[in-house]
Amino acid sequence: MSTKRFLGYDTDEKSKLVINKEQALIIERIYDEFLSGKTVDCIKRILEKEGVKNWNGKAMWQSTTISSILGNEKYKGDAILQKSYTVDFLSKKRTKNEGHIQQYHMEENHEAIIDPLIWEAVQLEQKRRSQYIKEHGTNSYSHKPETNPFAGKVICGTCNKALTRKGWKTKNGYRKVWQCQDRYYAKGVQGCTNRHVDEAVLKEVFILSWNRLLDNQEELKKKWEISVEFGDPLEQYRAVQFADMSENGEHIKDVDTDFILRTLNHIKVFETGKIVIQFMDKSEITCEGE
Ligand SMILES: [Zn+2]
Repeated sequence: MSTKRFLGYDTDEKSKLVINKEQALIIERIYDEFLSGKTVDCIKRILEKEGVKNWNGKAMWQSTTISSILGNEKYKGDAILQKSYTVDFLSKKRTKNEGHIQQYHMEENHEAIIDPLIWEAVQLEQKRRSQYIKEHGTNSYSHKPETNPFAGKVICGTCNKALTRKGWKTKNGYRKVWQCQDRYYAKGVQGCTNRHVDEAVLKEVFILSWNRLLDNQEELKKKWEISVEFGDPLEQYRAVQFADMSENGEHIKDVDTDFILRTLNHIKVFETGKIVIQFMDKSEITCEGE
């Protein structure tokens, strides 16, 4: 097996997979960035901007390559054997195993780069994101978060669709507002009746909610402990992540993109002015409107 294009491993003289330490760091980084809320497109831009080198020594990355790195079970240190089997020993022609012979799942066949729990968490996060996209009628989980950290995360409380951002010209420049994409569904037809919301309000509510979450830390710790013990790998990961992030209990005054991507599941905006923030650990904070 050639490992030239297989980032993270080399083969030794017995053709056993051994970790390539330098490349393994990149693999870990990709898994980490993904669980921190970034999409493969966003990770691609980060790696290229930082000049991180791919297998061919060039700082060029494909979103599809990053996707397949995230789904490659080899990184969790085992391999499904008998995925294909030899039909004809002479021609060495192989067919895909579709249940003709039993698949053997060999644990710890070679050294892992990614903890199996983290690997499973990434697969669950992939699934969660595709469900999220379907549920909220958006075509990207988080489009260009560098310039639009709330992208895809503001949801209409009336029709459950993702709101879109518009720039309204005012005498002081552009005012950013979020509006339901169904508002003007068709000309002359009344679309969704939900009103727009200012981005400044969303940001303010987000900061307020995070700080309120910190104030309930003791209560939440019990919830996180249960998640760590009984949750699926993604719930376990989130619980540990939130416990770490809230440990010092320091209130925040401002937020950046990384923080929003890491912590915010979505913000739901209702016609009454009520705003509900759901964090990645599924904690919810409700802010009643005026
Ligand atoms: Zn709507």
